[in-house]
This record gives sequence, C-alpha cells and structure tokens, in this order.
Amino acid sequence: MYPNTELFISGRWQAAAQGECIDVVNPATEQVIGTVAKAELADLDNALFAAKKGLAVWRDMCILERSNLMRRAATILREKVENASDVMSLEQGKPVAEASREVLSAADVIDWFAEEGRRTYGRVIPARAPTIQQLVVCEPVGVVAAFTPWNFPINQAVRKIASALAAGCSIIVKGPEETPASCALMVRAFEEAGIPEGVINLVFGIPAEISSYLISHPVVSKISFTGSTPVGKELAALAGRHMKRITMELGGHAPVIIFDDADIEDAVDILVTSKFRNAGQICISPTRFLLQSGIADQFIQRFVEETKKIRVGANNDSDMGPLINERRVEAIERLVTDAVECGATLQTGGHRIEGAGYFFEPTVLSGVPVNAQIMNEEPFGPVAPMMQFTDYDDAIREANRLNYGLAAYAFTGSGTTENKLARDIESGMLSINHYGLGIPETPFGGIKDSGFGTEGGADALQSYLITKFITRTINN
Ligand code: NAD
Repeated sequence: MYPNTELFISGRWQAAAQGECIDVVNPATEQVIGTVAKAELADLDNALFAAKKGLAVWRDMCILERSNLMRRAATILREKVENASDVMSLEQGKPVAEASREVLSAADVIDWFAEEGRRTYGRVIPARAPTIQQLVVCEPVGVVAAFTPWNFPINQAVRKIASALAAGCSIIVKGPEETPASCALMVRAFEEAGIPEGVINLVFGIPAEISSYLISHPVVSKISFTGSTPVGKELAALAGRHMKRITMELGGHAPVIIFDDADIEDAVDILVTSKFRNAGQICISPTRFLLQSGIADQFIQRFVEETKKIRVGANNDSDMGPLINERRVEAIERLVTDAVECGATLQTGGHRIEGAGYFFEPTVLSGVPVNAQIMNEEPFGPVAPMMQFTDYDDAIREANRLNYGLAAYAFTGSGTTENKLARDIESGMLSINHYGLGIPETPFGGIKDSGFGTEGGADALQSYLITKFITRTINN
C-alpha cells in the first residue's frame, strides 16, 4: 500500500546511482514502511544537466501552453487526492482529512500560479529622445534548487514548483526524506500532465551534502529553502558566497494577543484548531499566547476545556496525529519540563503518550515566564504556552521581543486597536480576529530571523524573475 520512492530526473523515475536507499518510518507505529532512493553526486550531476536542458525547453514554450499544462497537473492532482492523502497520513502522521485538505490546496496553488504566470508583464519607459526605445522585460531567473521539509510534504514543495514553473524556470527539488511518497505523487501529477523532461527533478538524500553541492554549482541560479532558522542561515551564507538569489522561509514564534474586548468563544474556537493542527508542527503555528489580565482566566479555562476534547491517534476519528520523530518528542518534553521548572503551571497534557508512535498530549501551560526556553525557542509541537499582560504597550513589547517575525495573531473588538496592531507588530503576516494565512494569492513569508522573501501571491512569482533593461535606437 505504501510505495517506495525513486528519484525523478530527466522525466524518468530511477534508483540512485549506487542503489542506496533510506528507510521511511510511519511515525504512528515507528515501523519502517518503505524506502526512498538516496542520491549520490552522480545523480545530482544528472539532475543539474537535466534541469539545464529543461530550462531551455520550458523558457521558450508558449506561455499559454505552459499555463494549460500546469492546470492539467492541478486537475490530475485533485484526482489523486484519496491516494495522496492516505500515503501522506501514513508517512507524516497527520489525519487523512487534514492531508486531504493539503492535497486540494496544493492543486489550488498550481492553478493560481498557472494564471499568474501569464501576467509577467514588462514595461516601456518613455525615452529622452524620440529615436530611443527603452524596454523592461522579465525573464526566468534560471535553474532553481529547492529544499522542502516534512511538515507539509506536498504544500511546501508545490509552492516552490508552481512559482518557479510559472516564471519559466526549471527546478531541482530536494524533497523531504521523512515523507517522500506524497511529494512524489504530486510530481507525478506534473509528469502525467506532460511536463517536458528535466523541467522538474526530484531528489532525496543527505540534506547537507545535496545543498552544499547544488547551491555552489554554477548551473543553479536561485535557492529556495523552507526549514529551521539555523540551517537557513547556513544556506543563505553559502548562497551569498556564490551570489545566488534566495527565498528563505524559516522558523517562527507567533505571538497571539487576546485583548479584554475580544470575542473569547471565537478566539478559543479558532486557536484550538490552529494550534494543534499538524500536531503544532507549523512555522505559523500560534505560539506565545499573550492574554490581557481581564480575560486571562476565562480564556485559559475555555481553551483547556476544548484542548481536552482533542482525540489523539492515527485513525479516521483522530483530530491530531503523532510528531514526526523521536527527536521532536524529546524536544517537547524538554521544553515543557523547563517551563514548569521556571514556574509555569501545567494546565493539561505535558507528556508523551506511552506505546508505539511519537504521540504527545495536547498541552497547555499558563503563567509561563519569558525566560523559559519555550518562550524563546520555536517549539514546533502541540504546546500552547500562555502569559498575561496589562496594557497594549506591554503586549507589543513582548510580541516583538524575539528575533522571529513570521506570523502574528490578535483578537480584539476594537477597530482602533486593529489599526494600531497593523502598524506596530513586527512580522511578515498578521491575522486579526480570524485565521487567514497561507492561501495561494496572498504573500507568505517572514522578516528578521524568519527569513527573506515570500512564497505566495504575485510577490512570490517576482522572486523567480530577473529584470532585464533593453535600450535601442528606433529606425524610422
Ligand atoms: P532540521 O533543522 O534538522 O531540519 C529542518 C529541515 O531542513 C528538514 O527538512 C531537513 O531536511 C532540512 N535540512 C537540514 N539540514 C539541511 C542542510 N544542511 N541543507 C538542506 N536542508 C537541510 O530540523 P528537524 O528536526 O527536521 O525539524 C525541526 C525544526 O525545523 C523545527 O524546530 C522548525 O524550526 C524547523 N522546520 C521548519 C519548517 C517550516 O515550515 N519553516 C518545516 C520543518 C521544520
């Protein structure tokens, strides 16, 4: 039922040159369920050669044909939703319904970029003399090397693929070794839609080996990475040494500010769902809950009541699956233990669930001091640490304290507060009174240590284009 995954290079699925593989583990059972091919340098050289050839073909293909092909891939992906969600749930652990939403939203991303690619307009700049013409044209940046993680095996990869393809680029994706098969199914949709050889290449292997080889290789013009801030900084430094363009979608530590005048029931409803989605393993996960003192007790009580209703497991009725691996369970255990030692109160959860699988209880901590590790380090797990504040300035100071700046959330009944928040919060995305991030047509990206560039909307496409200026004389 669970397929082994090969490399996709030059339009062909193939074993690695040396035939080596990496085991894939089901995080709900800790059992090996399959393998993924482990690329060697020879495979990477093949992928680079293929991507260079693919670029020449794709760049010159008529824009309407490219767009139609991408739309076909989106339709095929929708047809694969059942299979892809089952496979994703097995390898990643998220409930099938959640996986299914990811597959369908990936198809939407492809559709949106298929259309946006048709709008890569240039412009004419009025010249200083009637005999001169000045043109600005947009061209694809070239071959892209993309590195995508395991938390959204399809969605993290599809954003990079769709925007690169819409701009006319070819791409080599280093997919997630933990969750390769669903990512490969998405690439198959493009294959079945008729993508020319070499336009999309998918490899897996040792991340550091692959990134150091591809980033420094002269064939590659642009790097896009999604993952942790420390790794992102290393890759950005390497890209800088080789003068490569980058998009870095890194870690976050999203503040969630609940003001006294907020609708508490709405806030609880939205935040319990979004906090524990994907077992909290989301870069924009609501993280530091800042509660104004007038509503703090009521909010904690209602949030805890709803958290206790979350069904953890790996069957169709589950609301939350396991973490991806033992390392993440240990990280969450460490963060919870440290918070309690620092004086926090454990309201619910706090422990790994005994038995097979990397399951952890949905956890709520209140009264967490700002020096606790969890208030400073991205938890990337099912824990909601909460603290109180008294006035607006306190909340803003705490929200902006960290060097992360990806997502932020706020709940308030005051339009004036909304306006002030829009100006004062330091983050790439701010969602007020609802959870509205991560749709194809809107920007998705961070500032400060959370990264550089954006992965959604028209701005994402721009980062796969270069601007060329052409000035010439006009012969009458
Ligand atoms: P990790 O730092 O080992 O890996 C994170 C991701 O980066 C993985 O996909 C991994 O394959 C990749 N990676 C690691 N070293 C690399 C290298 N030298 N070159 C290229 N890719 C490399 O962490 P992890 O234990 O897998 O995940 C935990 C942390 O990663 C989390 O705390 C979170 O901050 C971050 N993360 C972020 C996202 C996101 O959506 N921004 C997704 C997954 C993980």
